This record gives sequence, C-alpha cells and structure tokens, in this order.
Amino acid sequence: MLKLSELREKYNSEEACLLYLSELKWPNGYKCPKCGCKHYYKGRKYYFRKCQNCDFDESPTAGTLFHKLKFSMVTAFEIIYWITQTKKGMSIVDIANHFGINQKSAWRFKRKVQIAMSGAKRNKLSGNVEIDEFMLGSLEKMAQGRSLGKKHKALVGIETMITRDGI
Ligand SMILES: [Zn+2]
Repeated sequence: MLKLSELREKYNSEEACLLYLSELKWPNGYKCPKCGCKHYYKGRKYYFRKCQNCDFDESPTAGTLFHKLKFSMVTAFEIIYWITQTKKGMSIVDIANHFGINQKSAWRFKRKVQIAMSGAKRNKLSGNVEIDEFMLGSLEKMAQGRSLGKKHKALVGIETMITRDGI
C-alpha cells in the first residue's frame, strides 16, 4: 500500500498527476473517441492528445472524476487517499477545512470517489480497495471487460457516467 509520504512525493505537481492519468487512460495507444483515428498530435495543454484526423483535443481528465475540478489534482489525489486509505475516511467538513476548499466541492468530489469505488468493487477490480491496487479506467472500458493492466497502480476507477451526470 502506498504511503501518504510516497503519494506526496510521486504526485507532487499537476503535471505528475496528469502524466499518470494519461498513462492510465491510453495504456495501449491512442484512439480518438470521436472518429477512431489512432494518430494524434500533442494537444493544447499538458498531456492532451489531439486527433490527427478530426482535431478533437482530449484532456486526460475527460471522462474521469478529475474532470473540471475546482481544486488541484494534487489535492484530489490526496483527498482520495484520505477517503480510501484511512479507516474512518474523512468527513466532508474535514476535507473542506483541511484542503481549503468549499464544502460543496468537497461533497461532490467525495461522492464521485465513492461512486467510482463502488463501481470498482462491482467490477471486481479488487475486493481489497487500496490506493495502489486501483485502476483508473472508464466505466465503458470496464463494461467491455477489458483486461486491467497490472502496471496500473493507484486510485479509483474513473466513471464516464459520473461526469456525464454532472454529479
Ligand atoms: Zn478524431
């Protein structure tokens, strides 16, 4: 299990978090969600991928619980750690106070994490939910029964559904 100190060291910047997400999102190469093209250019921001055919520019956070966060990814990773790794979890008030974010944002994010976790359990990703055993993968991918790479260490399943519903 990942220690908090290791998490902080490893994911100490937005860039590090995005790189990690992009590796999980496109583990077997790129495929454009719009047209299926497999070739991309660098997108307009860090680790975005832009389709060579249709110019669709995709963020590594798109379709994940990290999309359109109101706080940094570094904070998000740590919140996930506290929610998933500590016995008592962390209350919304505690999250808000500790990370200096508002309670509504804390509530929304915690809910996404919980849904992603229950999704992960549903999909039998791991009976034993630990941060370094999690897989970030979209619900659709999970539904397709795609094999989950062993190298994918960390966090919580991404659920496309979550961002779509705008929870
Ligand atoms: Zn495309």
